[in-house]
Amino acid sequence: MMLFSRSSKDKAEKKPGLFERMKKALTATKENLVGRLESVLTGRTEIDENLLEELEGVLLGADLGVKATAQVMNFIKDQRKKQLIKTAAEVRAAIRQQLIAILQAKEKAVPEQAPPQEVWMIVGVNGTGKTTTVGKLAARCAQEGKRVLVCAADTFRPAAIEQLAIWAERSGAELIKSKLGADPSAVLHDALAAAEARKCEIVIVDTAGRLHTRSNLMAELEKMRRVAARKIPGAPHEVLLIMDATTGQNGLAQAKEFLKVSGVTGLIVTKLDGTAKGGVLFSIVQELNIPVRFIGVGESLEDLLEFSPESFVDSLFEAK
Ligand code: GDP
Repeated sequence: MMLFSRSSKDKAEKKPGLFERMKKALTATKENLVGRLESVLTGRTEIDENLLEELEGVLLGADLGVKATAQVMNFIKDQRKKQLIKTAAEVRAAIRQQLIAILQAKEKAVPEQAPPQEVWMIVGVNGTGKTTTVGKLAARCAQEGKRVLVCAADTFRPAAIEQLAIWAERSGAELIKSKLGADPSAVLHDALAAAEARKCEIVIVDTAGRLHTRSNLMAELEKMRRVAARKIPGAPHEVLLIMDATTGQNGLAQAKEFLKVSGVTGLIVTKLDGTAKGGVLFSIVQELNIPVRFIGVGESLEDLLEFSPESFVDSLFEAK
């Protein structure tokens, strides 16, 4: 299945229920970013250097990072010079437009025909919400009527395997696990064979997330990619990197390590419900140039929202 077929995405996220949930989850970020922008812009009749400096301070303070902030500010300064921006309303509109542009990362080409088994590898540092997100994705796919198989390839953490078993059962997904300390690639191999035999359409693979400085973790992820590709052409079809929004800019350095080896195709940014620094999402996309697929907005199975740049920015800017 092409869960990520781009055409339906915006429509899906504009459904009132989902949009409201995104708005609610982003309340703290909205206050921190748009609330402060508004207090700088309100009542200003002239767009002068002072105002521009204040705006820059707000963007940096909301964790947008230096590059994303520079992109927004350079655009506004340039438009102002050309006399295309003269009012506070025009500044507001320009910021909104630039924020959406930043989030529009380069998409990889989507194959025209869905493969019989689509394999998604979920990677990231421990504690970011990997296992929870695997459960959420499984539940989501199952709800869409897909046969899902979850592969517990984080064979180092008994708690992760147990947690996955619970999520899988709740969402009606199949589960392939092995004993503690088994070779993750061997578990993946078994999972792919089982998915074929049981005609599962989606295989979601939870991977180990010990710190990226251990080169053996990266070697292991590489090996898993090779095993997947040998068994199913084109696999893994998605490598989704989980990033914890509450770790702010620090999370970026870790993410970059994963990008070097694991062929990341998309991001899932978790815990946006628990932070006022959701602005880090702009910085993440700007730095990594990888699209965000979903955002995590809570601890329950349904707390995973499909992401689109427009719906994210709209939910920040639109009135309560
Ligand atoms: P892993 O070590 O990467 O597999 O992380 P876990 O899936 O075990 O999650 C770590 C903690 O983060 C758990 O307490 C989860 O309930 C919590 N968590 C995961 N995603 C979210 C989210 O989107 N929002 C919130 N508030 N908590 C989350």
